[in-house]
Order: sequence, then structure tokens, then C-alpha cells
Amino acid sequence: MNIKEKILIIEDDDGICKFLKTTLCLNNYGVVIARNGKTALEMAASHCPDCILLDLGLPDMDGNRIIESIRGWTTTPIIVISARITQDDKATALDLGADDYLTKPFGTRELLARIRVALRHARSSSVNADVALNGCYRVGDLVIDYRKHRVFIGNNDAGLTPNEYKIVALLGRHAGQVLTYNHILLELWGPQASGDNKVLRVHMANIRRKIDPNPDEPTYIITEAGVGYRMLDDEK
Ligand code: CA
Repeated sequence: MNIKEKILIIEDDDGICKFLKTTLCLNNYGVVIARNGKTALEMAASHCPDCILLDLGLPDMDGNRIIESIRGWTTTPIIVISARITQDDKATALDLGADDYLTKPFGTRELLARIRVALRHARSSSVNADVALNGCYRVGDLVIDYRKHRVFIGNNDAGLTPNEYKIVALLGRHAGQVLTYNHILLELWGPQASGDNKVLRVHMANIRRKIDPNPDEPTYIITEAGVGYRMLDDEK
């Protein structure tokens, strides 16, 4: 039997703790629970969890401080789970080093899918395993060819410009994860990049025109309103 992957739940709400614990145990994960920030930091260090679910609204500590503190010494994936989270809150949590977020209430399937993505990224040191193995990322009809620096839809070259390619390539390497506008701007154009998302939106509109049969209903690159973009994950 495989060793169970261990999830640390940081959450003070009894009902949600119970739901998470039941769901995760049924799906063969090991579970440890911290009800406040102080215990959470101790347990993150002593239990070496494979993934952390973090409620930002804790009684004793701002959840963002927990992200900063944990990111000081480990890359263990952190998925923020919160109610009433604003777009700015999401972007801040992601920029501080959280890997993903789920807005309460969320369903079992969504929770498990996000955890699988987070664990897979952690195992392949945040580079998409398909990309590392084949030099390609495929989802649906979309193929990102990292050797040729080209994107195909079926057999047809989508004809992306170099900047458009860079954006799609970056999202493909992190498929399934939401990347914030800041993160994308910083990766592509470095620290001198302006924090202006307008350029990015224009690029994205052009990309969608080239890769989506119906750009009004994007298939491959999902907009996380006010936060960033997520490449559709090819769940195996
Ligand atoms: Ca709470």
C-alpha cells in the first residue's frame, strides 16, 4: 500500500473542518488539523504535510502572515480556502506564495481536483510533467510545442506572436494553477514591467482569437476575474 499523502487543514470552523476531514480521509489522504495560526505554524514544521489548506480568517493571526512564514522555509503547496474573499485578497495571497484558492462554499470534486494539481506540481517541482517529458503540453486540440516555440490547434499553427507565445507557454507550464497578472508581467518582462494589466488583456484577446473557436467562451485559458489566468488542466 502506498504511503498516504498528508494534508494539513488550517481552519477554525468546526463544520468545514469536519467536511474536509471526512472528504479527504475517504479519498485516502492523511489529515492533520490546526485550529489557529500558532498551532498551524508548529504543525507545518513538525508534520511535514504534502499540501496545506488554509483558511485566511483565523482567530489569532492574519492568514497572509502564515503564507509568508511558511514560504520562508518550504515550497509545500498552499491552497487558500476562504469565504468573502475579494479579488485583491486572492491576488495578494497568490503573490505571497499561495498556489491556489477555493472560495467557500466549494464542492468535493473541485476540492479534490485542486489538491491533485497542487500535489502533482509539487512532485514535478512546479514544472508541468508533460512539458518536462515530451517538450509539449496538450489539452484538447491545443498543443504547446516548447521545442519549436509554437502553439498548434490540431495540426494548424495558431500563428502567435513571440509575446503571445511567451504568455501561453508560461500558463502551460503551470497548467491548472492560476497565475496573477503581477506574476505573469514579472516573469515575462521582468521587474521593470509596469503593473499595467491592459497590455496583458490585449495580448489575451488576440491569443483567444487565434486559439479558441469561440473567443467569447474561452476553452483553454480561463479568466480568474480581477486576479489572473489559468490554463485548463489536462486531468489524468
Ligand atoms: Ca475562519
